[in-house]
Amino acid sequence: MVSKGRLIVITGPSGVGKGTLVRELLQRHRELHLSVSVTTRSPRPGEVEGKHYYFVDRSRFEEMVQNGELLEWAEFAGNYYGTPLYPVQKRIEAGESVLLEIELIGARQIRERFPQAQQIFIQPPSMLELERRLRSRGQDSDEAIARRLKRAAEEINAAQEFDFELVNDDLDEALKQLENVLFAVV
Ligand code: ADP
Ligand code: 5GP
Repeated sequence: MVSKGRLIVITGPSGVGKGTLVRELLQRHRELHLSVSVTTRSPRPGEVEGKHYYFVDRSRFEEMVQNGELLEWAEFAGNYYGTPLYPVQKRIEAGESVLLEIELIGARQIRERFPQAQQIFIQPPSMLELERRLRSRGQDSDEAIARRLKRAAEEINAAQEFDFELVNDDLDEALKQLENVLFAVV
């Protein structure tokens, strides 16, 4: 990919607050564009096709993988997730900044394919607080929460692979740190 624009990857365990931080960041920095992923997961209440995700079935997803339509992809907690290549490519080539909010396996693929990408890992204050957040979101079954927590431990063990780590304890503080990482004058 021609690297004119910036590619920013935000990773961290499910429930840590990635979506919340990204939403705030996008409101404050209109020049950042969030990539909309494809998933085989069912929509949660309130999720909108094309805004939160493109919801597809497994055979369509596998076809996208076969056709090389995805920049990266992974299976997470029983579902497939992937980043459509073309929209990201178009923006980066146009010199725009694109944000990917993805899990660990996908982040590693981006590191291979696009080493210039800036990679940020969001840590929870503790596993107990992570579990509390997953439960308080109230959108996943007990079984899905258990799968996400198991995977969270694996993701946290890989945090040191990332360029930057920050703890999402107080939201405003975490947002400030994220802005410092992304927009620090060097
Ligand atoms: P992710 O996108 O990483 O799965 P979400 O952004 O959906 O996580 O956040 C999970 C839950 O935690 C949500 O209910 C959200 O409101 C809450 N949350 C996010 N950040 C914080 C924070 N700093 N302090 C307390 N609760 C938070
Ligand atoms: P959720 O089901 O909570 O929306 O997302 C589950 C996990 O999948 C989160 O860690 C989220 O960051 C990740 N994810 C969302 N979209 C993508 C994607 O396109 N690729 C990869 N690899 N992970 C994604």
